Amino acid sequence: MTSLADFPPLAILRHHGLAFFAFDFGRYVVAAAVVSALIFTMRRLGLGHRKIQQRRASRADLRREVLQSVQAVLVYAFASGFVAWGIDSGVLRKPEHGTSLGSDLVLLAAMIVAHDAYFYWAHRAMHHPRLFRLFHRDHHRSVTPTPWAAYSFAIPEALVMVLFVPLWLWLVPTPVWVTLAWLIFQITRNAMGHAGYELMPRWWLSTPLTRWINTTTHHDLHHSGGFNTNYGLYFTWWDRLMGTEHPRYAQEFARVVQGGSQSATGQSATGQPATAPAHAALDS
Ligand SMILES: [Zn+2]
Ligand SMILES: [Zn+2]
Repeated sequence: MTSLADFPPLAILRHHGLAFFAFDFGRYVVAAAVVSALIFTMRRLGLGHRKIQQRRASRADLRREVLQSVQAVLVYAFASGFVAWGIDSGVLRKPEHGTSLGSDLVLLAAMIVAHDAYFYWAHRAMHHPRLFRLFHRDHHRSVTPTPWAAYSFAIPEALVMVLFVPLWLWLVPTPVWVTLAWLIFQITRNAMGHAGYELMPRWWLSTPLTRWINTTTHHDLHHSGGFNTNYGLYFTWWDRLMGTEHPRYAQEFARVVQGGSQSATGQSATGQPATAPAHAALDS
């Protein structure tokens, strides 16, 4: 007699669930801790002025960000059982033959570009008033994000985020190491985007070589008042193309890297108080 426990994804989770959780939780903790250590070092080196907002995240903010991130990691570990089942059954694909390092790196770059597009549109959709409360409100409880907000998602948002993996593997045969490298890249960039301190060099937006790569200021503005702007994750392409880049992004970046202070009233770039998000009406 078969039972629910014999359902292949659950059987896989019984054997490997702890390892899936350890990998996802481990990369979250390492990425957030490394970015936190970088911020600590910057402050010791006299770069404390690179803090983007005057407001400081409270202990309650930090606790919420960690607990919600653990919740998201549990969703990812659970979803991994279904992805592993998909690979075992051939629905999700691995290359049939050996691949070269060069072709794997091209595939990794393609996966990052595709994920940036997926993230932009999924993120923008979750800002729709009908979807915001269920999917994305919990993430925006962080008005002054810290690196520990990297996976601070409600369960529905975590499911949307993890859905990219089976979609990609369904379309593109991808070696396991490329998927793992992408997961590490993704959490690292996510922790950087929520750092609260600008990490990029001051010339970053002055040259076409780098200005298409997102900075911490870019995503910080999305949290602190530029609620309907700056949806992108890795690159600025989609925000520029769709006209959703924050109008004062470049000025805010320049202010932060040059050590300029916010106005005496603590107003953010959008004129919203740094402590009150522009989406307060949605948040009630
Ligand atoms: Zn958002
Ligand atoms: Zn965020």
